[in-house]
Amino acid sequence: MRFIQYQSEAGPRLAARRDGRYVDLQAVDPRIPTDLRKLLEMGEEGGNRARAAVDRGPPMQETPARILAPILQPEKVICIGLNYADHAAESGLALPTEPVVFCKFPTAISGHEAPIALPAVSSKVDYEAELVIVIGRGGRHIPLEQAREHIAGYTCGHDVSARDWQLEKSGGQWLLGKTFDGFAPIGPELVTPDELGDAGQLDICLRLNGQTMQNSNTRQLIFPIERLISYISTVCTLRCGDLIFTGTPPGVGAARKPPVFLRPGDVVEVEIQNLGVLRNSVIAEP
Ligand code: MN
Repeated sequence: MRFIQYQSEAGPRLAARRDGRYVDLQAVDPRIPTDLRKLLEMGEEGGNRARAAVDRGPPMQETPARILAPILQPEKVICIGLNYADHAAESGLALPTEPVVFCKFPTAISGHEAPIALPAVSSKVDYEAELVIVIGRGGRHIPLEQAREHIAGYTCGHDVSARDWQLEKSGGQWLLGKTFDGFAPIGPELVTPDELGDAGQLDICLRLNGQTMQNSNTRQLIFPIERLISYISTVCTLRCGDLIFTGTPPGVGAARKPPVFLRPGDVVEVEIQNLGVLRNSVIAEP
């Protein structure tokens, strides 16, 4: 299935796509929540209800004008650094022997077409296209061979990164440099694994003002999806709705000569095969 959350006059609503059009799920089945994370928490029953509703519900006349992040309030936003070999090389860093993990706060989450506000305190805001895993069933100490059973779906993600904060502040401020409000756009859709096919073989690219800046495939991931889930769950309990940003391919702005950083008026598009296009414009901080 392909889910979106969208803004209606009455607040956030949940819809799923049938062919080219969206069906508002709660309008068909009042027991379906309007929040996708809450639906995922219902497990198999939620999935069955959603499938039945999208099959029989009337499609909306138009695609909703304002699409929200598919997960609005994740408990955790976990990010993997240096997970593509050639990105580690362009960053001048050694190939990791274990996943490099950092995080963003949930206040960084934003959605498709929501503007990215450049903080006044940074002059080196960079882009990073990433495949994002959405956790369904939670768990701790998840064995590698069971990791797939914990995935609710996937979405496109943009790990916006203030390089001056991340790398130049004393000691480096990875967390702060990555977690300014709005620095984690995700969406537009959450696509379930049965609909997506093999998440380990997806073309991933990023365009800045129409020009391709990153272009790779998720088969280049150093640590594949199952390994990331299993590894992180050795440390902390994964919960429904948690997000895992899986790392970015080469071509980031900071590694270019001369460097390229985001400016007001820019438009950034993250496109992942069969997941769609996540588009965000860039503005100065209001
Ligand atoms: Mn990243």
